Amino acid sequence: AKFPNVDITRPRFLQLIFVDINGVPKGLEIPIERYEEAVEDGIAFDGSSIPGFQGIEDSDLIFKADPSTYAEVPWEGIARVYGYIYKDGKPYGADPRGVLRRTLKRLEKEGFKAYIGPEPEFYLFKKNGTWELHIPDSGGYFDLVTLDKARELRREIALYMPSFGLVPEALHHEVGKAQHEIDFRYDEALKTADNLVSFKYLVKAIAEMRGLHATFMPKPLYGFPGNGMHLHISLWRNGENAFAGGDGLSETAIHFIAGILKHAKALAAVTNPTVNSYKRLVPGYEAPVYISWGYRNRSTLVRIPAFQNSGARIEYRCPDPSANPYLAIAAVLMAGLDGIKRKLEPDAYVEGNVYNMTEEERNRRGIETLPGSLGEALEELKKDRIVRDALGEAYRNFIAYKENEWSEYVTYLESEGLPVKTKKVTEWELERYFYI
Ligand code: GLN
Ligand code: MG
Ligand code: MG
Ligand code: MG
Repeated sequence: AKFPNVDITRPRFLQLIFVDINGVPKGLEIPIERYEEAVEDGIAFDGSSIPGFQGIEDSDLIFKADPSTYAEVPWEGIARVYGYIYKDGKPYGADPRGVLRRTLKRLEKEGFKAYIGPEPEFYLFKKNGTWELHIPDSGGYFDLVTLDKARELRREIALYMPSFGLVPEALHHEVGKAQHEIDFRYDEALKTADNLVSFKYLVKAIAEMRGLHATFMPKPLYGFPGNGMHLHISLWRNGENAFAGGDGLSETAIHFIAGILKHAKALAAVTNPTVNSYKRLVPGYEAPVYISWGYRNRSTLVRIPAFQNSGARIEYRCPDPSANPYLAIAAVLMAGLDGIKRKLEPDAYVEGNVYNMTEEERNRRGIETLPGSLGEALEELKKDRIVRDALGEAYRNFIAYKENEWSEYVTYLESEGLPVKTKKVTEWELERYFYI
């Protein structure tokens, strides 16, 4: 045995996990005996080198475990727990999980509870000197058996999901070679954000055990489909789905859509927060480009699925898995709530394929275009009070961090003599995002 004098049938260590401004999980490990202390008093840590957190002059933070999130990591023999961060006895403003909790309170004040179901996609890579797509798996959308060489890995991931509180619902090969999707059951907004953190961790851990790497970067390869993370959203009031309206959607849902469309450009900075995100948002790969909505229509930014009544919901197709799930969900909900409060009506309704319209026709229908780069999206975010407010105190850190990211990229492009508008995936992006 690895640890001959220790009972390893029980977890001996506990990881205290939070996410940085990018949504990347970070953690400190403590002996399991300190669990109670972590729940009651919290555990002090130094937040100075966490991306988007405190500067070194003032970085003493406290992590308080949220016992409802406790889970054991079966293959490591440890446990892990999520929590909230405090500073000087108060919730720490830049803690993304805390940001979402505060946002949800605002929604609750209006009488709503949000449920969200995500569709995260990822690619599998193998090492062959350098990383390359995990082919023999040359399957496409919904392919089976001979073309789908990663099916066992997908099932293995799904079998581990319940250990982390996730309920797997559907697994399938995606459109891209070596691209996959595993959907899990929708849940309350905060739980879904936690689930997304667990899911990415789990997928990457299992892939690693099998000698592969799972990447969630939005567009790992030019000319291949990107990785999306569509969000299915419904608001509930008094235990009833407030988006349900007979065969179609309620007024509330329509106003919510209008809010999303109105704020879509600024939202992109949060739901698509990397340089690489904008390499995905191009025509030809079922990723949104134009700010529009429609029933069943997968060419639109907001889609109304065919199944309504108690399952009434909207699908927001912009987000990608490089988003910080707490911040992205907070921003999307506040944009929709703004639509409800102001009773906004959505224009840009589309029945046909919006990619086939001429620019003239789009203009006539009031269909605008999503930002073409992170730089453009950040400019939109700065102008949008509602989306900025949704990020609370994390906004300042977020914008500073992201503007720096953008300017580093622009400097790189200049040094390589590449055009700022390039849609090709650069070395700089692969280096920065391949492991997110
Ligand atoms: N990969 C596509 C995207 O980037 C979605 C494809 C699909 O789920 N039908 O959003
Ligand atoms: Mg899907
Ligand atoms: Mg999909
Ligand atoms: Mg979808």
